[in-house]
Amino acid sequence: MRDSDRLDFKRPGSGLSSFPPVEKWDDWVEYDPDAWPRRVARHYQLIPTICFNCESACGLLAYIDKKTGKVAKFEGNPMHPASRGRVCAKGPAVINQIHDPDRVLYPMKRVGPRGSGQWMRVPWQEVLETFGARIRKAIQDGRGEEVMYHVGRPGYDFIMERTLQAWGIDGHNSHTNICSSSARLGCILWHHADRPSPDHANARFILLLSAHLESGHYFNPHAQRIIDGKMAGAKIAVMDPRLSNTASMADYWMPSYPGTEAAVLLAMAKVILDENRFGASFVKNWTNWEELEMDGFKARGQSFETFIDGLKRHYAHYTPEFAEKESGVKAETVVKVAREIAEAGSRFASHLWRGSASGNLGGWQSTRALVLLHVLTGSVATKGGHNLNAWNKFVPKPFSVPPPQKRWNELLYPPEWPLCTHEMSFLLPHLLKEGRGRIEAYFTRVFNPVWTYPDGFSWMEVLRDEKLVGLHAALTPTWNETAWYADYVLPTGYSSERHDLMSQETHASKWIGFRQPVLRVFQEKQGKKVEYTYEANPGEVWEEDEFWINLSWAIDPDGSMGIRQWFESPYRPGQKITVDEYYGWIFENSVPGLPEAAQKEGLTPLGYMRKYGAFEVTTDVYKLNEKPVADADLAGSIVESNGVIKKAGRPVGVMVDGKALAGYNTPSRRLEVFSKTLVDWKWPEFALPEYYRSHVHRSAQEVSIGKPAADFDPRYMPVVDWPAHARGEVYTLLPIFRLPTLIHTRSGNAKLLYEIAHKNPLWVNPVDAEKLGDVRTGDLLKVHTEIGYFVLHAWVTEGLAPRVVACSHHLGRWRTHKADQIERLTSAWVDLQEVGKGQWKMRQKTGVEPYESSDPDTRRIWWSDAGVHQNLTFPVHPDPLSGMHCWHQVVRVERADPEDRYGDIFVDTNRAHAVYQKWKALTRPAPGPDNLRRPLWFPRVARPAEAAYYINK
Ligand code: SF4
Repeated sequence: MRDSDRLDFKRPGSGLSSFPPVEKWDDWVEYDPDAWPRRVARHYQLIPTICFNCESACGLLAYIDKKTGKVAKFEGNPMHPASRGRVCAKGPAVINQIHDPDRVLYPMKRVGPRGSGQWMRVPWQEVLETFGARIRKAIQDGRGEEVMYHVGRPGYDFIMERTLQAWGIDGHNSHTNICSSSARLGCILWHHADRPSPDHANARFILLLSAHLESGHYFNPHAQRIIDGKMAGAKIAVMDPRLSNTASMADYWMPSYPGTEAAVLLAMAKVILDENRFGASFVKNWTNWEELEMDGFKARGQSFETFIDGLKRHYAHYTPEFAEKESGVKAETVVKVAREIAEAGSRFASHLWRGSASGNLGGWQSTRALVLLHVLTGSVATKGGHNLNAWNKFVPKPFSVPPPQKRWNELLYPPEWPLCTHEMSFLLPHLLKEGRGRIEAYFTRVFNPVWTYPDGFSWMEVLRDEKLVGLHAALTPTWNETAWYADYVLPTGYSSERHDLMSQETHASKWIGFRQPVLRVFQEKQGKKVEYTYEANPGEVWEEDEFWINLSWAIDPDGSMGIRQWFESPYRPGQKITVDEYYGWIFENSVPGLPEAAQKEGLTPLGYMRKYGAFEVTTDVYKLNEKPVADADLAGSIVESNGVIKKAGRPVGVMVDGKALAGYNTPSRRLEVFSKTLVDWKWPEFALPEYYRSHVHRSAQEVSIGKPAADFDPRYMPVVDWPAHARGEVYTLLPIFRLPTLIHTRSGNAKLLYEIAHKNPLWVNPVDAEKLGDVRTGDLLKVHTEIGYFVLHAWVTEGLAPRVVACSHHLGRWRTHKADQIERLTSAWVDLQEVGKGQWKMRQKTGVEPYESSDPDTRRIWWSDAGVHQNLTFPVHPDPLSGMHCWHQVVRVERADPEDRYGDIFVDTNRAHAVYQKWKALTRPAPGPDNLRRPLWFPRVARPAEAAYYINK
């Protein structure tokens, strides 16, 4: 950790400490607050770990009571370079999760029909043998693609890709296409790295699309650095239809109409171009401007100035007035913010992740338009600017890496979406219903698609069908709606109950964090021998690392399939690897500087990571594109006519101003203002960053109710087809804003968090409340989507732009059984009926109620609202390019009917499948050039062998 980042352990003049000093972590003494007014000293062993409650990977310190051997609380780890001792409310709430009286403690096997809720406890060995045999047979029969691992929250780096590639299968599925694919595609097209890493702390101007201060991506590490930047004088602008806590801290709040952000950003680009406030030498040197071919204009052979004139002409129609008409943001604000951005120059930082990119059809163009502002201001790879995730994240390699799999799984990457950034995971039920494949062995892992995904009833329909899904294990720390339809529910650990190695691009640094099972580490410090982590965790809660190692041995017990070798110890040939050996080898061999740092303290590298929980690898992370190409790479290389340096057919750098520099991992090795890839893959009209009208655009709403709309283009936008029962005013629904204290569905057993937040009413602007018939806060409204409806309370507020309604994510958990299935402090008990084929009706029988358990607090539950599960009523909306599920919905809102009750839900999955077909028709499928399934230069998780990229090869 840099000195400037280190927090003071001592508070000057107070005699108090902000954090326990590391030298006292082995015996930290605090007085027991429960014993007050007596002074009863408690002795604690402090052990660092990594929070698993969101993707930020903040450092936690577990306080283990040395007398009881139990974890008493969690606080922040001051030695962690990203979180610097600070945590959000969800970090300390781990204590509720691990002590939850209703948690899954033992492996459970279904004994009745799927979904009937009849379970029996089984040993882990039975699970290993059952899945080992099924997977072995599938692989031996050449059906490896019928084995699928589907991850919700990963919380690790690389180990699962390695495991699946060791099995030789293309079986990695993830949640990314309901999360961030559009933001990623926009980044990939510019610079290959699929995520930004804004350097907020050193910025002079920060533009945030959505609520990154209170609930954004890398929430706590980013929030503290946005405030660092603000304290040092940076101004902040927030584009968000909601007056979020982030917007309330901003200098400029721009409540843009959802999906119009790219129009605003391109208008800002036009201002910067027209006023000649762009960084000409940066654009000239670091973009592929010479490749531009647009509007009958070819840049190659022309001067840079001619290119700029062409660009100005191309963007001439994105005037601030046009942006105002589309977005509602005042033209003068657009101009003012554009000038502030130009003024900040290379110290302009921004962030866009979900919100606009994830909500809207074409949301990836918002990212491209935002990065265009960075390119024009030369704020790419700079201090205080827009950096690349690949430069601020460190994933060390383990002792061996299996070869890539040879096959391509079209259930993961169907040919219709050749440019999708990740697996088309939310389409799985529809792909299975279309007969495109089946699943023999399915692992859902910290993943709850029945609840978290759109169209959850379609998931339920395929999960209960044993012909489509042969055997399903839910690896989960807590009961959830999806686990209820599994064959096995396998308890896995929380933040303090497992090993994982993590790194995130939280700021201008590269670091690693080590999650560890703190009770196991504590017991080992006491001299107890622990073979497997479930011996130290509560019940038989296991960690996945050991589970996958043992399962791999169960698939290939004698090593004849070539799988077992990847899970043998690098220190003890032929023996099963331990977790200590796996991570110990990485720390000894793959993390620069760590062995030396450990040696200084007389520790092994593994001992160092167990002691501190994190290590900063480097802070030399700016301008990596300007690093000279290594002499070894230059030897025998050739320079192509566009300046790309290639060795053995692979690009290794680019000539810039006569120097051989590393550049970016794009085909041109420069930032791609012009995307030849989009031209080659049938989308030439989007070769430059453009404004792509969203499916919730005003014109789409008008067309849905039979009004003509000149700016509606059916080539790009689907027409909403309302069910007969849908009535009321048409709005855009924002369904994805997060609450700072909740975690999708995994916080379901964190009583501290649900006491703070447990409602998700419909936000309605007073103007719209009036239009809807003088609606007041608390009135019941019915929200119709294209496939059904949900009923909830209104919250009338000026904190939301007119013509938009909003309902937060996280809430609306449900259970069909009164006393089990889902945590009772979170969920409503519901009656769920299939009233016709694919026609699902849900009605709440009770809300949340107090109940008896081993935790006396469950008798003190004072809230009754569990919220309403809106996602069930959303059809899938796959973006034709990024593959992102476009979350925003065109909805109709009316007062509820007398027979409607709070929490009522109706869905028709037949309509859901029809909507899927309609969106699929917008795609331009593979093959691309050379019969490719996907551009070879695009990143892919668990990347297959190159031959698999070609259709019929
Ligand atoms: S931001 Fe909060 S939930 Fe996320 S890792 Fe940090 S402490 Fe945990």
